[in-house]
Amino acid sequence: MARFGMVIDTRKCVGCMDCVVACQTENDVPVGYARDWITTEVRGEFPNLAMEIRSERCNHCDNPPCVTCCPTGASHVSDFGRIVKVNASRCIGCKACVAACPYGARYVHPKGYADKCTFCDHRVKEGKDPACVSVCPTHCMVFGDLDDPAAEVSRLLRTRKWHTLLPEAGTKPRVFYLT
Ligand code: SF4
Ligand code: SF4
Ligand code: SF4
Repeated sequence: MARFGMVIDTRKCVGCMDCVVACQTENDVPVGYARDWITTEVRGEFPNLAMEIRSERCNHCDNPPCVTCCPTGASHVSDFGRIVKVNASRCIGCKACVAACPYGARYVHPKGYADKCTFCDHRVKEGKDPACVSVCPTHCMVFGDLDDPAAEVSRLLRTRKWHTLLPEAGTKPRVFYLT
């Protein structure tokens, strides 16, 4: 079974927001909500400062608190690539998962269920890249099976420096940022 993840090169990301627009269009994300967003962070200390621009989304954590806290089983780890998903028909909109996610990756859809990035599994099942990956003009995002040593995501993690967001939270994110 695959274990999908995403590797994003912060040296290539220009913050154009094409990924955000593509996601909203592909996934019918309601106006005013988002499954992905751009964060700008200044790293280092003066005078050695560097600005990191990141395209952020659900990290599809290996240890997801949003799943363990869900009282109905609506939030779950999918058999397809261990993607963290929400079964809308089982969700009661209690927001426990929204509170449990340290990344702010979830919102409650106006229709009453929790929503977030799905890694575009409907596209991946058809052999396509996620929408955000496919439109990026700088090709800064790579999607693939982290458990496949021959996959580009694995090669990049072996050969480049990277970090994850809030590793101290113990969630074991599967979105990696190359530095
Ligand atoms: Fe859950 Fe948040 Fe991790 Fe996504 S980023 S799997 S919503 S804890
Ligand atoms: Fe589970 Fe839905 Fe409550 Fe989230 S909002 S914890 S998915 S029932
Ligand atoms: Fe949106 Fe799909 Fe990218 Fe997730 S993988 S941020 S759902 S476009």
